[in-house]
Amino acid sequence: MDKKEQLASLLASLSSDQMEELEALLQKSSVTSRSTKKKKRRGKGKRKKREAAKTKEQQLASEQNMKDSPPTGEFLEGLSLTSAEKEELQEASLSDKKMGAHEPLQNQSPLKKKAEHRVEVRCRICGKTEKVSPGIVPPERDRFKCNTCCCSAG
Ligand SMILES: [Zn+2]
Repeated sequence: MDKKEQLASLLASLSSDQMEELEALLQKSSVTSRSTKKKKRRGKGKRKKREAAKTKEQQLASEQNMKDSPPTGEFLEGLSLTSAEKEELQEASLSDKKMGAHEPLQNQSPLKKKAEHRVEVRCRICGKTEKVSPGIVPPERDRFKCNTCCCSAG
């Protein structure tokens, strides 16, 4: 009889408890026989995988911690930046903003909106045409008074 066959028949004769015990032993010693694994797909392999992934993540996290936080923290807190360095930082953040394209747009749009929405109205007193925001234009346009006329006389 082949050893594998022997093992297989032995396994077949085992109770589920014994099987679990055996599997635990096998996993401990990391001598995982494929036939056992195939025979007993009870999520143990899955769990092992998950654990492996977890440890990988943990490793990654700790690696990142080692890489990033201690040096940067020290750098920012421990060092007083020279003006040149500050300038560099500012330039960097500025270019970041440019690259991002979000902030410039946000900064531009209100101005643009205002400019676009300005209405040309004619002052009923001095007859001058002015561009004003629609909010201050009266319902009847020809009743509009420009700032100067508004402030001086009725
Ligand atoms: Zn006027």
